Amino acid sequence: MVNVVEILINFAGDVFLAKAVKDYLSSKGFILDIHMTSNKDEISLSIQEINIRKGIKLVKEILRNYLDEHNLTKYNVTEFENILTIGIPKEIEDISNLLMCEICGWRLNTEEELLVHRRTHWI
Ligand SMILES: [Zn+2]
Repeated sequence: MVNVVEILINFAGDVFLAKAVKDYLSSKGFILDIHMTSNKDEISLSIQEINIRKGIKLVKEILRNYLDEHNLTKYNVTEFENILTIGIPKEIEDISNLLMCEICGWRLNTEEELLVHRRTHWI
């Protein structure tokens, strides 16, 4: 069973990259429809896939390849509520972005790491 799924790609204000990626994706034969949304930094595209999850996974891979081929390795493709966002993440060294253990003050990058770390206090 194949459906038409619509995927949004947001470029976090980078309208030039949005345009370049749109041109690149337009050349891919399997894209049914592609256009900029009313936001100048956002693309909407339609493809045939089994479901939105599969579609997002596929588009994510294509975007990653595009970024690597164009030496845009600092850019990340992140996914949030069925919208893909392309942008440069804040530096991990920027301590203000890190999570802190409220018990001992240890700094961690992710919620997951924090949960694992917190458990060490209960032993
Ligand atoms: Zn701690």
